[in-house]
Amino acid sequence: MEDGSKQWRFKARKDLTSASDITIKGMLKKLNEAIDSTDPRPTIRLGCGDPSVYPSFRTTPVAEDAIVDAVRSAKFNCYAPTDGILPARRTWNRAIAEYLSSNLPYKLSPDDVNLTSGCKQAIEVILSVLAQPNANILLPRPGFPSYEALAASRHLEFRHFDLLPDEGWEIDLDAVEALADDNTVAMVIINPGNPCGNVFSYQHLQKVAETARRLGILVISDEVYERITFGVKPFVPMGTFGSIAPVITLGAISKRWVVPGWRLGWLVITDPIGVLKETKMVDSINSCLNICSDPVTFIQGSIPKIIEDTKEDFFRNIIDILRRSSGMCYEILNDIDCLTCPHKPEGSMFAMVKLNLSSLEDVVDDIDFCLKLVKEESVVILPGITVGLKNWLRITFAIEPSSLEDALGRIQSFCQRHAKKQ
Ligand SMILES: *Cc1c(COP(=O)(O)O)cnc(C)c1O
Repeated sequence: MEDGSKQWRFKARKDLTSASDITIKGMLKKLNEAIDSTDPRPTIRLGCGDPSVYPSFRTTPVAEDAIVDAVRSAKFNCYAPTDGILPARRTWNRAIAEYLSSNLPYKLSPDDVNLTSGCKQAIEVILSVLAQPNANILLPRPGFPSYEALAASRHLEFRHFDLLPDEGWEIDLDAVEALADDNTVAMVIINPGNPCGNVFSYQHLQKVAETARRLGILVISDEVYERITFGVKPFVPMGTFGSIAPVITLGAISKRWVVPGWRLGWLVITDPIGVLKETKMVDSINSCLNICSDPVTFIQGSIPKIIEDTKEDFFRNIIDILRRSSGMCYEILNDIDCLTCPHKPEGSMFAMVKLNLSSLEDVVDDIDFCLKLVKEESVVILPGITVGLKNWLRITFAIEPSSLEDALGRIQSFCQRHAKKQ
């Protein structure tokens, strides 16, 4: 039937392919394909931050029981209630509002909270709302590449400001001011930081708010690692400064409860003086959420129990493991000639490590380093280019501690083998 010359009107979107090329998923797939299947040693994955598969990071039974009970109750087999006024929805939102308010100088109301399918959907929603013709947003470099990919897929222009490795990965705020123009609508911060493992101080966050106010822009604060800190600086939510400039806070149970597969996150209006309500931004966000699909109902139904009943011990234990593992990672990596970790991680699950190519014999760049490492040592780490910094590496220390030691040893012998001969 086909005559071969038929002209179809649809065509593939090339810009989507290039947006997905810059994702962590895309790069990890490439590295996975390079694993040497004849290596008898187990592959150790320091490429992505999902420790849920390791026994030391198993979530609390409180959360598991909450889910089982919710499923067995047969009360949550329905679509999620769509109206914020409905009692069930209010109860779920109130649990998150109270949880986040415990760290803020004001009280959030259940209406400020919107539940999403993971933090990722919260990012999708806010970027969709901001993606108007000619608008641009400012993103951190290094950063979390989903922001670039999602902005690109929505034709939302993004510009990068640097995080400064020699200043504890603080934001180059002069660069933010220089980048912004009349079409700049928002800046994104990630605190505690992925990929740098840094935690912003109270003073620095205040300066971020003052800068945003001067520029008349919104601050989007990705706090998916909230309270995962193990250095001297405490976690301070950006919403603390919501009365200086409006803040939208993104989060999830994914990282702190170590259940990224449960896909429960939130987008919270941390704007105590109501700028976002007044400018109808809240209406836009609600409209966008109405278009999206809701998180799984029984996960939403479990939220009050998960949030209110989890014992401090569970969090403390995980923080202790991360403190020890990040310290070990920092010490061992800095002992390796071709690697420098400029800043000891204080939070999240990652460290950024600089590759000193001049002390290596046959490695051309970070991707080459990671490909050769995975082939020879069965250790997966992420090339820095994926998060915006060429010839750096992003390493997660959130794996079983015994495997981490093994992996660091393998990285050490790889670097020795490839070192330039004196
Ligand atoms: C993991 C992560 C997310 C995504 O969180 P999910 O709840 O799994 O969707 C968003 N931002 C950062 C910085 C992350 O590391």
